[in-house]
Amino acid sequence: MDRAVVDHRSDEFAQLLPRIAPLLKQVFGTKDGHIVVFSGSGTGAWESAMVNTLKQGDCVLSVANGHFGAGFGLSGRRLGFEVQEIVVPWGAEVPADLIEDRLKADKNGVIKAVLVVHNETSTGVTSDIGAVRRAMDAAGHDALLIVDAVSSLASMPFEFDEWGVDVALCGSQKGLMLPPGQAYLCASARALEASKTGGSPRNYFEWGNQLRENITGKFPYTPNTLMLFGLREALIMLVEEEGLDNVYARHRRMAGGVWAAVEAWGLKFMCQKPRFRSTTVTTVMTPEGIKGADLLARTRNRFNLVLGTGIGDSAAKAFRMGHLGALNELEVIGMVAGVEMALHEMGAPVKLGSGVAAAEEHFSAS
Ligand code: PLP
Repeated sequence: MDRAVVDHRSDEFAQLLPRIAPLLKQVFGTKDGHIVVFSGSGTGAWESAMVNTLKQGDCVLSVANGHFGAGFGLSGRRLGFEVQEIVVPWGAEVPADLIEDRLKADKNGVIKAVLVVHNETSTGVTSDIGAVRRAMDAAGHDALLIVDAVSSLASMPFEFDEWGVDVALCGSQKGLMLPPGQAYLCASARALEASKTGGSPRNYFEWGNQLRENITGKFPYTPNTLMLFGLREALIMLVEEEGLDNVYARHRRMAGGVWAAVEAWGLKFMCQKPRFRSTTVTTVMTPEGIKGADLLARTRNRFNLVLGTGIGDSAAKAFRMGHLGALNELEVIGMVAGVEMALHEMGAPVKLGSGVAAAEEHFSAS
């Protein structure tokens, strides 16, 4: 990325997308999905997914199991869709059974899309998207399945084709290891058809314009050129050099070290069921008497270690340890050591060395 800006109408620039799109398809787990790239962020990708596939006033079923699930639904409401929500406690996974019940009850097919978040970044919960698709099929319902993969893509398996996803979306700043500012979508043939024949008023986020120009490697508007160079490199690193299966295994391994430390400290995970724990972010309940914001200030000021705040409802009582992207064992141990020392110094009953030892044992044994 660190290079002179090239003319986005040049032949040199036109080489990028043909190299990027097949690699991005592998990351999404698709053969026939259509890749669309915008300058923007995950929130822009939410909007693009909805305005292309849904008509104004259409009804969507959205699951709020954390801040981003709730935000996805709220975006839909602001864009003029009728949003029916399934609200479950933070820390719970997307409830496929409740989706099935709602869709079965929708005898007239009013619901046009189901919105879910694959990895809820606020709570550290990864949901089973295959189970959501099976629930939709069991209900015999033909709503589109729109999945936010912002904090899962390129860090854990995503199976667009196998799970029957209609639109999946992501941003550049998480598993793809880039700065913020680019948004990626993958659309199924059905979703693309919905966008060709309908959708809502839109301009910048329209898919058809993009796909037409992309055939020649170009964009209808000025794209974020340098980010595309970065994306090409990130995809080569992930897909061709390390290999996606190894990338996913590394994330499981890094997460395992963090979980071992949290357990050694005797702290609680916000994620209710261990099998839904996210391999990209762990949300931890702060010990009695310690506020999340104070812990964050301490790790930042004392060690230049940046943790995530608890978000929304959990702002004061949780903190988040991120473990995605370019990360290795010693970096995880460094993060664990920083959290451990900060907690200890703030008076939490956390034994110095306990989390570090647990993480080391995990890494040495696995
Ligand atoms: N969805 C999820 C799961 C996220 O984690 C985020 C941001 O962290 C978003 C959506 C919003 O993305 P952005 O902040 O890139 O607009």
